[in-house]
Amino acid sequence: MKVNLISDTVSLPSTGMINAMSIAKVGDDVFKEDPTVNHLEDKIAKLFGKESGLFFPSGTMSNQVAIKVHTNPGDQLICDEFSHIYHYEGGGISFNSGVSCRLIKGNQGRITKDQINEAINPPDFYHSPPTTLVSLENTTNKGGGACYNLIELESISEFCKQNNLSIHLDGARIWNALIATNTEAIEYGILFDTISVCFSKGLGCPVGSMLLGSKELIKKGIRYRKVLGGGMRQSGYLAAAANFALDNNFDDLVNDHNKAKELEVLLNKLPYVLKVQPVSTNIIIFSLKPNLNEDSFVSLLAKNKIAVIKLGKGKIRMVTHRDYKNDQHQYTMDTLINLKF
Ligand SMILES: *Cc1c(COP(=O)(O)O)cnc(C)c1O
Repeated sequence: MKVNLISDTVSLPSTGMINAMSIAKVGDDVFKEDPTVNHLEDKIAKLFGKESGLFFPSGTMSNQVAIKVHTNPGDQLICDEFSHIYHYEGGGISFNSGVSCRLIKGNQGRITKDQINEAINPPDFYHSPPTTLVSLENTTNKGGGACYNLIELESISEFCKQNNLSIHLDGARIWNALIATNTEAIEYGILFDTISVCFSKGLGCPVGSMLLGSKELIKKGIRYRKVLGGGMRQSGYLAAAANFALDNNFDDLVNDHNKAKELEVLLNKLPYVLKVQPVSTNIIIFSLKPNLNEDSFVSLLAKNKIAVIKLGKGKIRMVTHRDYKNDQHQYTMDTLINLKF
């Protein structure tokens, strides 16, 4: 038995998905002539109640283009200190947009309206960088898969409007949030200027993300996608996978959440675990008791053919996904129980 819990990006496309990809009608998407991409862009835009969508090869590129369309060099954006855009996008915020970050210490990667209020630089004080953008993450990645409450998002969105701040949602795992909080995509569309979503995580696609926004913002976005080298040709084969995933894989996310919850409950009882962050979706982050070494813990699990990753600062992460099957789950639970550590 071999188990890979390093990320929900490790799942492979199913036979059904490969079939859907292989029969896709395609064209050159740089000329906007790929019917499958065009269809997917319309479909996801409608789903979220936005005017337009733009297909991307990665969530990183989609987020980075969003930041670029909302800002000018020298601006500052506000985000949680755990944000993917800040930690895991290669410094792209400064590299691509010349923008700095005001980091907020949130709760599992979630920030509040009051924290944003305190972090805004006074607009007429020309010594400080102009605050122009707020970027939220839902679900949070480094925050442990936590979801925002819709009421909190409404108040943040309203606050941003009043203060002339653009607001972006890194919704790489918004699908998990929809399932976990029993909300609809359309409820998020009205709250954000742009939303980036990924098909390559829990939905099980090999590649693909999408940026959603107004016609005007997406028109700007197409140019920046081109600048970054993200204009693709017969990308309908990839869009077909996303289309298939939405129709067939979305509801299965609940299985990933259930398994993650079971792991949380188990870990909380194990003698070597100090603390498990509350689990609400498919990400489990926990820390070991102070005298225990995380490198040896991860190696010991690897010897048992279970792959997990270290997040630094004594934290370990496991992510459940559609290729983490019931028998593998049982094996992982048994291994964790019997681990001599
Ligand atoms: C995975 C992820 C992204 C995008 O990552 P890519 O690997 O570039 O597709 C963006 N934000 C969050 C929170 C993520 O987890």
